[in-house]
Amino acid sequence: MDIDFAFDRDHLWHPYTSTTDPLPVYGVSHAEGCELVLDDGTRLIDGMSSWWCAIHGYNHPVLNRAAEAQIKEMSHVMFGGLTHRPAVELGKLLLGIAPPSMDKIFYADSGSVAVEVAMKMAVQYNFAAGRPEKNNFVTIRRGYHGDTWNAMSVCDPVTGMHSLFGSALPLRYFVPSPSSRFDGEWDRKDILPLMEILEKHHDRIAALILEPVVQGAGGMWFYHPEYLREAARLCREHDILLIFDEIATGFGRTGKLFAWEHAGVEPDIMCIGKALTGGYMTFSAVLASAKVADTISGSEPRAFMHGPTFMGNPLACAVAKASTGLLLASDWQNRVRSICTQLKEELSPAAHLPQVADVRVLGTIGVVEVLKPVDMARIQKRFVEEGVWVRPFGRLIYVMPPYIITPEQLSRLTHALVKITGEL
Ligand code: PMP
Repeated sequence: MDIDFAFDRDHLWHPYTSTTDPLPVYGVSHAEGCELVLDDGTRLIDGMSSWWCAIHGYNHPVLNRAAEAQIKEMSHVMFGGLTHRPAVELGKLLLGIAPPSMDKIFYADSGSVAVEVAMKMAVQYNFAAGRPEKNNFVTIRRGYHGDTWNAMSVCDPVTGMHSLFGSALPLRYFVPSPSSRFDGEWDRKDILPLMEILEKHHDRIAALILEPVVQGAGGMWFYHPEYLREAARLCREHDILLIFDEIATGFGRTGKLFAWEHAGVEPDIMCIGKALTGGYMTFSAVLASAKVADTISGSEPRAFMHGPTFMGNPLACAVAKASTGLLLASDWQNRVRSICTQLKEELSPAAHLPQVADVRVLGTIGVVEVLKPVDMARIQKRFVEEGVWVRPFGRLIYVMPPYIITPEQLSRLTHALVKITGEL
């Protein structure tokens, strides 16, 4: 059946666009491998992995089989008072690849909810430890942690819509994003603002929350791992929990299985999501140290106070287990490394264009930062005309393809990106 575009336009909200004059949408009929197939038969090479998720590409037989097999058992049962094999098996797999300090797992519904859960854990931890006044958060600018209330409160105040919602949001402590590039020299001055804030306000702060090494939707910025080592040292000194949001960076995207490994710094709480299910459905997990979990459980009400309806959803757990297993059984390090090399080589000509401010690549993430915000409708149309799916935002044109992308497909993607950037 054809897609009713008029109904879509009149009644369906799409992300970050108007309902009265929405940006155009393209109808997808199906997706397979590294391609999205539009309803008119046009095939587009996917450069976005559906916002960091579809690391194995689309319609993968192993993930399809896992979903089908689980549906025949049960799609969902409540997690209160019940448990099941998919939750337990996934948990074993995740703890095997998580930072060694992680010991407890809270399954949640989406990335934003994972961030809410992590923040609540940090507050309840301090409450249980007899320090209820340590209930605020510090974070770095240019971050992105999701669109729900508390997640939004720790997003970058400029790109994170604080001008709109700020008056209704809890006020957090912000320090500048580290300026030292991931692959550049470490500038010690980068850590000073955090040092000052923690010295002054540590008795009000429960946790530092940040995306390790790669700041995603807040600016696609890759910063120096030394920042994490210094930040972790300060957190320990001031008895402040460290929360890593690895929702975008997890599952190999930056060249390590998780981005904390670039710095060798372990968090107290860690959020994962997105590629956890290989992009099949929404699902996330919050991992915590035994210290955090046991302290929460050691004082009234002797339980962590959060319990979503779809907690530990068996279907999501089964697909997440299959996806994580597939990744670990694959030669993902070499795949990511060769995508990285090719991105560096093929995006480098963009650095010479007068429209371009910076080109950077880490793992399978390639970013071309231009000088002026792009005209979304126009540039999107041009990418589709070139047979690729790339969705820029603001001044950032970037790709993070599925790891299964072939060198030929990747070349079409990068060439389209450089060509269209040159037309701006
Ligand atoms: N944290 C990070 C680092 C993210 O990139 C995102 C999603 N872009 C989220 C949190 C929120 O995840 P979700 O959209 O699944 O709520």
